[in-house]
Amino acid sequence: MINVTHTDIVRSYTGKAGCMCGCLGTYRDTDRSKKIALTKLRQMDYKIEFWKSGYGDAGCIHAVNDAGTRTVVAYFDVGAPIFADDVDQATLDAEA
Ligand SMILES: [Zn+2]
Repeated sequence: MINVTHTDIVRSYTGKAGCMCGCLGTYRDTDRSKKIALTKLRQMDYKIEFWKSGYGDAGCIHAVNDAGTRTVVAYFDVGAPIFADDVDQATLDAEA
C-alpha cells in the first residue's frame, strides 16, 4: 500500500487513456488535484515506477481504470516515503 500524502506529490495527471503529451488530459500541481489523484489511485490497480531524475520528480504512481479509458498519475518527489509504514493513518484519511 502506498503511504504517500499529497505533500509528496509534485504533480498529478488525469486524462483519457493514451497519449500523455497533454492532448488527452491535464497535468496539475494544485493540492486539490494531488489529493484527488491519490484518492483515485488507492482505489485502482496501480503500478509504481522510479527514475533517477526528471522534472523535479523521482517516479510516479499510475493506473488505468477497469474500463481502460482513463489514466491517473501522481508524480512523486525525490525522497518521498512511498513504502514507509510510519505515516499517520489520520493523515492518510484526511487525504480522502
Ligand atoms: Zn498527445
